[in-house]
Amino acid sequence: MKKTIAIIGSGFSALAASCYLAQQGNKVTLYEKNESIGGRARQFKKEGFTFDMGPSWYWMPDVFERFFQDFNKKTTDYYELIKLNPAYRVYFGVDDFISIYDNLEEIKTTFESIEKGSGHELETFIKQAKSNYDIAIKDLVYRPGVSPLELITVETTKKLNQFFSTVSTDIRKKFKNERLIQILEFPVLFLGAKPTKTPSFYNFMNYADFGLGTWHPKTGMFDVVRSIEKLALELGVTIETNAAIEKIVVENKTATAIVINGKTIQADVILSGADYHHTETLLDIEHRAYSEKYWESRVFAPSSLLFFVGFDKKIENISHHALFFDVDFNQHAADIYDEPKWPDAPLFYANFPSKTDQSAAPQGKESGFFLIPLAPGINDSEALREEYFKKIITRFEQLTQQEIKNNIIFKRSFCKNDFVTDYNAYKGNAYGMANTLLQTAFLRPKLKSKKVRNLYFTGQLTVPGPGVPPALISGKLVAELIQKSFRS
Ligand SMILES: Cc1cc2nc3c(=O)[nH]c(=O)nc-3n(C[C@H](O)[C@H](O)[C@H](O)COP(=O)(O)OP(=O)(O)OC[C@H]3O[C@@H](n4cnc5c(N)ncnc54)[C@H](O)[C@@H]3O)c2cc1C
Repeated sequence: MKKTIAIIGSGFSALAASCYLAQQGNKVTLYEKNESIGGRARQFKKEGFTFDMGPSWYWMPDVFERFFQDFNKKTTDYYELIKLNPAYRVYFGVDDFISIYDNLEEIKTTFESIEKGSGHELETFIKQAKSNYDIAIKDLVYRPGVSPLELITVETTKKLNQFFSTVSTDIRKKFKNERLIQILEFPVLFLGAKPTKTPSFYNFMNYADFGLGTWHPKTGMFDVVRSIEKLALELGVTIETNAAIEKIVVENKTATAIVINGKTIQADVILSGADYHHTETLLDIEHRAYSEKYWESRVFAPSSLLFFVGFDKKIENISHHALFFDVDFNQHAADIYDEPKWPDAPLFYANFPSKTDQSAAPQGKESGFFLIPLAPGINDSEALREEYFKKIITRFEQLTQQEIKNNIIFKRSFCKNDFVTDYNAYKGNAYGMANTLLQTAFLRPKLKSKKVRNLYFTGQLTVPGPGVPPALISGKLVAELIQKSFRS
């Protein structure tokens, strides 16, 4: 029988779930608090410049393909992908950088030119990473995190030792050059924890990087948001924006309605794609499955200081994606995870979408996005944002040997306080809850409420974890659980 399903939020996970649930024949409505959809992957436009406000690395193209295949579609039915070459550059000093090209052979040559023998090491390392990718991304992440048994397969038992070593230890056994080590440790940062705290099994992220490559949807990541919105609408989903849920109504331990602007809307099932902690605050305290103490004890992925900048000229000596690793990586990581504070010397990341997509900036101009990872919950103020902008722009100018400070038409900052205000993000986290060994699979917050019937969760705080591909998978997993509950 057709059920009425109310979904909170319109991030990737909620959008994905809405498609699956509508495909199953349900009446699905998405309610988004902001005026536009996409959640952390929203778009910002100003004076002819276009920015993705969150994700910009399109990794694991197979996961996106698999999502559209579930609806007998292909990504190419909706958007065009460009493989970036170089995928990215990593800066270590003044005009001193390593480019990562779009194929393993060239990357091996780059490695070999820096450390003798490392080309061969890289080949075996990526082979192992691919084998982990085939196990993790093609299979394990599609399990709902209900039971520890989901993780026990013939393949994983053969790899048990990799759950008790870390990515960092593993890489350091094989490579000696600090720069190569930093490049190889970079991909697991997407999982939200330090490489020294991430099990070596997660080196499948290195295969995603060097094996599958870095792609760019022709007009940016928001292309993908719009595409999934289109698919959802084709499947009959209704989308309402400027619709902040104020309360989830529970009667007899069963979620029965949501309240928006004082109006109560009944539903058979309520699914939240908003941050888990926030969703539970919409429930009376006795219906919350996790205590404040629980959230306090979790390792959250970083928050971030972001800048969206319109430049009145083209920026030189730079590629689409650039990482600035010219300062102490471990110190910045300690400033995020160990003793949270604003880093004295921040690592930062920048992207210039108008290098690939002419429509991202007016002709002869450049759109620039800058990101500094910060500890969640950190003190945030205009003065601090300004101080750090000056720091990174000065370094950017030195490292890429050009002046850009006087070429800024506008800049918009976005930091912890905005993550809280705009997304109701716990401690202003940017990427959800980290994927550490103790926060993996069945050890993550549950897709199905442990206390309230007909209440479900999806998104980067649940399984499988942070990132756009996991958000799509999370949407699929929760839709399957909901469908299963209708049959039982
Ligand atoms: C700066 C940044 C860079 C990133 N870079 C990458 C990258 O390069 N590649 C990658 O794969 N991933 C990246 N990520 C991670 C990725 O964007 C996220 O993991 C993913 O988009 C999260 O999707 P979600 O559906 O879980 O949550 P969200 O996108 O946060 O969606 C939650 C939605 O719920 C809404 N909401 C909250 N409260 C309410 C309420 N009460 N009522 C109604 N609606 C509500 C919010 O407004 C939001 O729209 C990045 C994230 C950030 C922030």
